[in-house]
Amino acid sequence: MARKTEQSRKLQKRAEQLIPGGVNSPVRAFRSVGCDPLYIVRGQGSHIWDADGNEYVDYIGSWGPLILGHAAPTVIEAVIAAARKGTSFGASTPAEADLAELVISAFPHMQKVRFVSSGTEATMSAIRLARAYTKRKYIVKFEGCYHGHADALLVKAGSGVATLGIPGSAGVPEEFTQFTLALPFNDVGALEQAFEKFKHQIACVIVEPVVGNMGCVPPARGYLEALRAITQRDRALLIFDEVMTGFRLAFGGAQELYGIKPDLTTMGKIIGGGLPVGAYGGPSEIMDLIAPLGPVYQAGTLSGNPLAMAAGYATLSYLRDHKDVYAILDRLAGVAVAGVAAAAHDAGVPVCHNRVGSMFTWFFAAGPVTDWTSAAKCDTEAFGRFFRAMLENGIYLPPSQFEAAFLGAAHTEKDVQQTIAAAKQAFAMAAA
Ligand SMILES: *Cc1c(COP(=O)(O)O)cnc(C)c1O
Repeated sequence: MARKTEQSRKLQKRAEQLIPGGVNSPVRAFRSVGCDPLYIVRGQGSHIWDADGNEYVDYIGSWGPLILGHAAPTVIEAVIAAARKGTSFGASTPAEADLAELVISAFPHMQKVRFVSSGTEATMSAIRLARAYTKRKYIVKFEGCYHGHADALLVKAGSGVATLGIPGSAGVPEEFTQFTLALPFNDVGALEQAFEKFKHQIACVIVEPVVGNMGCVPPARGYLEALRAITQRDRALLIFDEVMTGFRLAFGGAQELYGIKPDLTTMGKIIGGGLPVGAYGGPSEIMDLIAPLGPVYQAGTLSGNPLAMAAGYATLSYLRDHKDVYAILDRLAGVAVAGVAAAAHDAGVPVCHNRVGSMFTWFFAAGPVTDWTSAAKCDTEAFGRFFRAMLENGIYLPPSQFEAAFLGAAHTEKDVQQTIAAAKQAFAMAAA
C-alpha cells in the first residue's frame, strides 16, 4: 500500500540541480521529517494532489493564506477578471483603496495601511517606522517568534530556523542584531527587566500575539495586557505581528479575540488570499511618517499588485460577510485536535496540544508547551514518524514540529474523521 513517490522524487532531483536544496523556502524540503518532499500539482477545497496522483487532506493551506481552501471559486474568478485587464502598472489602481478600506475596518486602532508583497517586508518596514517615530534603537522580540527573514529579526526566530536547529543566520553581522533583544515568550518579568535596563531606549516590542512559528503557543492569561501596559508606560510601540493570526482567529485577528489595541499591526498570508500581499497599518499620526509624506522610506515595484489586491479583496470580503465561519472553524478544529489527542493518549504516546480557533499543533512532549524552552523539549524523531505515517494515510501536515497546522472553511467533517482514523493507525504503528 506504500504511496507512490517516483514522480515527486524525479522532480526534486531535477530541482536540486537548479535551486538550492531544490526549494524556494527551506521547510518545503522536509529535511526534519526524514522523507522526500512532495510536488503538488493541484488543489481543490481542502484536498491536494501530488505529481504521483496521491490525494491528501491538506492542513498547511499554503502555510496559512488559504482559509477558503484551494482554488476557491470567488478568489479564482476575481484574479482572472483582474488579469484580463492587465497584471501590473506600477501606478495606482482603484483596487488598492478598496482592500485598504476593508483591512482598516477589521482593526480599530488602524487609520492607514500600506501594502507590500510579503510578511517579511511588512515587519521590516513596521520596525523601521517604529524606530523613526520613537527615535529609539532597540527592539524586543520573543524567542520562537518568527517575523520573516530581515537581518535584525533573525534572532532566535522559531519556524524554519528552529527546524534546522540554527540560532540565527550566517551572513548577518553581529552589529546588525546588536539592538535586537530576544526575550522568552509569556514571561512578564523578563520584559520588565529589559525595560528597566533599556529605559526609554526601546522603540518597539514585536510579538506574534498567538505564536504559530514554534508550533501554536497561545499567550498566557494577562500576558498581552502586560505587553500593552509596559510598552505604553515607556512610550515604546507595541507591534502585533498578525501575519498568521490576522483574519484567521477572528476577522480582526488576535487583537479582536483578546481585546488589545496595538500601535501597529503587520499582516500577510490571508490578506492576499494565496497571492503575495503583506501590509502594515496603524494610526495616521505614525503612518504619515512614511514616504512620500514623511522621511521613512519604503517602496515596492509590485506593491498593491492588481491580481494580489483582487485575491485579497475576494477573500476578506467573503470572511466579512460570513463571520460565522470562525465559530464553524473553531468547532471543527476542536473535533480534529481532540480526536487525534485521544488517539495518542489511547496508544500511550505522550502528546500535548495547543489550539486557538483553527490554528493548532500536536506537540510530542508531555507539555505544557508555553514558550520556546518547553517547545524545544519535543521528541522531533517521534513527530517525524507520525508525520510520515499520516502522509501514508493521506494527511498532509506541516513537515515540522515547530509549525502550526490550519483548518479552513473547505474542510469537512469527513476530512476530520479521516484524519482521526489515520492518527489511530499512526499511533498504533508507533506503539507496535
Ligand atoms: C509567515 C510569517 C511572516 C513572514 O511572512 P512571509 O510572507 O513569509 O515573508 C512573518 N510573521 C509571521 C508571524 C509569519 O507567520
